[in-house]
Amino acid sequence: MSRETWQHGGVTAATHSTLFPQVPDSADAVLDGLDPEQREVATALRGPVCVLAGAGTGKTRAITHRIAYGVRAGILQPASVLAVTFTNRAAGEMRGRLRQLGASGVQARTFHSAALRQLQYFWPKAVGGTLPRLVDRKIQLVADAAAACRIRLDRGELRDAAAEIEWSKVTQTVPADYAVAAAGAGRQAPRDPAEIAQLYAAYEDLKRGRGVIDFEDVLLLTVAVLQDRHDVAEQVRAQYQHFVVDEYQDVSPLQQRLLELWLGDRDDLCVVGDASQTIYSFTGATPDHLLDFRSRHPGATVVKLVRDYRSTPQVVHLANGLLAQARGRAADHRLELVSQRTAGPEPVHTEYTDEPAEAEGAARRIRELVDSGVPAAEIAVLFRTNSQSETYEQALADAGVPYQLRGAERFFDRPEVRKANSALRAAARFGGNDSLLDDAVDLPSQVRAVLSGEGWVPEPPAGSGAVRERWESLAALVGLAQDFAAARAGATLSDLVVELDERASAQHAPTVQGVTLASLHSAKGLEWDVVFLVGVAEGMMPITYAKTDEQIEEERRLLYVGVTRARERLHLSWALARSPGGRPSRRPSRFLKGLRPGSGTTGGRVAAGGPAGVERGFGAGGAAAVAAPRRTARTPARCRVCGRSLTDAGEMKLMRCEDCPSDMDEGVYERLREWRAVQAGRSGQPAFCVFTDKTLMAIAESVPEDERELARIPGVGARKLNRYGAEVLAICAGQEGVGLDGDD
Ligand code: ATP
Ligand code: MG
Repeated sequence: MSRETWQHGGVTAATHSTLFPQVPDSADAVLDGLDPEQREVATALRGPVCVLAGAGTGKTRAITHRIAYGVRAGILQPASVLAVTFTNRAAGEMRGRLRQLGASGVQARTFHSAALRQLQYFWPKAVGGTLPRLVDRKIQLVADAAAACRIRLDRGELRDAAAEIEWSKVTQTVPADYAVAAAGAGRQAPRDPAEIAQLYAAYEDLKRGRGVIDFEDVLLLTVAVLQDRHDVAEQVRAQYQHFVVDEYQDVSPLQQRLLELWLGDRDDLCVVGDASQTIYSFTGATPDHLLDFRSRHPGATVVKLVRDYRSTPQVVHLANGLLAQARGRAADHRLELVSQRTAGPEPVHTEYTDEPAEAEGAARRIRELVDSGVPAAEIAVLFRTNSQSETYEQALADAGVPYQLRGAERFFDRPEVRKANSALRAAARFGGNDSLLDDAVDLPSQVRAVLSGEGWVPEPPAGSGAVRERWESLAALVGLAQDFAAARAGATLSDLVVELDERASAQHAPTVQGVTLASLHSAKGLEWDVVFLVGVAEGMMPITYAKTDEQIEEERRLLYVGVTRARERLHLSWALARSPGGRPSRRPSRFLKGLRPGSGTTGGRVAAGGPAGVERGFGAGGAAAVAAPRRTARTPARCRVCGRSLTDAGEMKLMRCEDCPSDMDEGVYERLREWRAVQAGRSGQPAFCVFTDKTLMAIAESVPEDERELARIPGVGARKLNRYGAEVLAICAGQEGVGLDGDD
């Protein structure tokens, strides 16, 4: 969906034209949407090509257009092209873009999935039998290996040990060499390196003994097969002749080796990347392959792109400012971005007293944006660690904002989507004569009728979890049918089925409507109109365990990646304490020094304990206090049963530990749930947007008698108090039939 949609009100038209754009009618028309340098990339179809360019300059666009141009001009055979990238989501995105450009049939995969496919195919011939099973929970295997070596590790150490094993494997380091290699790379092993080496060896033995392989083995084994079996290597090379790699700055030595084996002695390779976005060094990736490309391929066409088409000058200014302070090899190659967009709002920096307040503040702003017409799918909340997600899930649910956690990849593989597709196919075969479709006059109502047989209902189910996710998938299909019908007048159910089949084979998922919650690492390559970068505090950004200069620089690049995801609006925030009432000992991230208001080179920090939520516009005019959102200081959250301090968002909401005995009034809880279902139905929003289960439980546990008591319950903000307070209190007071009948 494009930014014009909400700025100029043309939501419907712009949405449809973006989801179902016209396929360019010729190869030359594919080039129309490119600037001169991007065209140079797209038309250099032979020999080595390297694109070095900053965020948002159209690298991904240039390579997808390059493939599409080559295919449409008949220069590249679709099946001979292999495009590789790093996440399933990015690969899905690339397939979608290729399809829109009229170049279906090109393989766009992650290194891992391309290797796995080849390995599955060639294993019987190269090794014999079928490929061993891929373990899905490496951590369990590491735990078993630790037990076998009598090394006791806690959960955190287990995870770190697993990361060390992964790093060793992608850098092709064997257990005997681990200690030396780890010291050389400045790794911080969770234990004595000798112990990690022992654990690594035991892990490999255990894996072999159980006849399973892990994620890294997929690449290692593919490399081994291609190295040892020339006949297999020749067969793979005969299939793929042209290679394109996106995000090449994050290639690991093992992936690079695989790429070289795929290529053989040929050089039809196009790589694109931005050294300033290297964010996977900790796993063994290195931008050296990108930066040394020209010396390895002296005849390479090297193109630099500097026009930033994604972000406003305000966002780009902040991004350039962040990079200006960067150090190291990647930084030596930085490219100053030049925004091509018209001016937008200044990035907003906000300081909060504690993390729940920060999440609540972000959720409130998001609510306002959604209310003003910004599609939820055009907003993202990005954080450093996945553990930050829960607080934001709660806060968004409390603010009545839908959100999505999982990526759009593999949408068509979800069981509910596969079943729904078969049901639609069956209905289409009946040619609309199915009795189910009797009353359904148009395509969207036909789809709704068929999908209601699969469990789709107009209103989402309460709560989150599997049932909710299933509903979201079906709702996404309904939404897709609506967009499809609007874009193609007279489209039938059969047309839709063809469209879905094509999308399924291209894995081009429909947009799930909701704010995206994602880690910074998984946001790479993506973009949104509005981005909230949360937790931009010392300890989080850079993260506590980043110690060496290189690790700190990687954290800075991660923030750069985050900043450059925003097209239009950027909100950065941090909290002075973790929990309400906690000591306000945190400081905003050092990376913002000189870039946020009040942080000149002397680093004037907003005083700890000062007004929470002071928001500052960032710009030429310097600091300007725009607003001081309401928030009263809270006492530390403690379990009201056992008195323990609470830090978990869900437990804070319940005001007790999850497993401390509940004194909930079951009758009140049931009545509140019934009431909530009616409210949700009336306002056309999910039940959790009225109140989450946890808030209802907390209400049913404390049974407040007046507004003051009700307002103390987390999740009951001023807006909800105003809207629902009287009815909730009436239910708590035992009044029957409150809010269950009549119109709003
Ligand atoms: P990243 O480094 O984050 O991966 P990128 O360099 O791959 O970014 P793209 O995602 O390809 O950049 O492009 C960024 C945005 O700019 C996209 O919305 C893209 O459609 C748009 N864009 C790129 N080039 C042009 C162009 N020549 N004209 C109009 N829009 C463009
Ligand atoms: Mg990209």
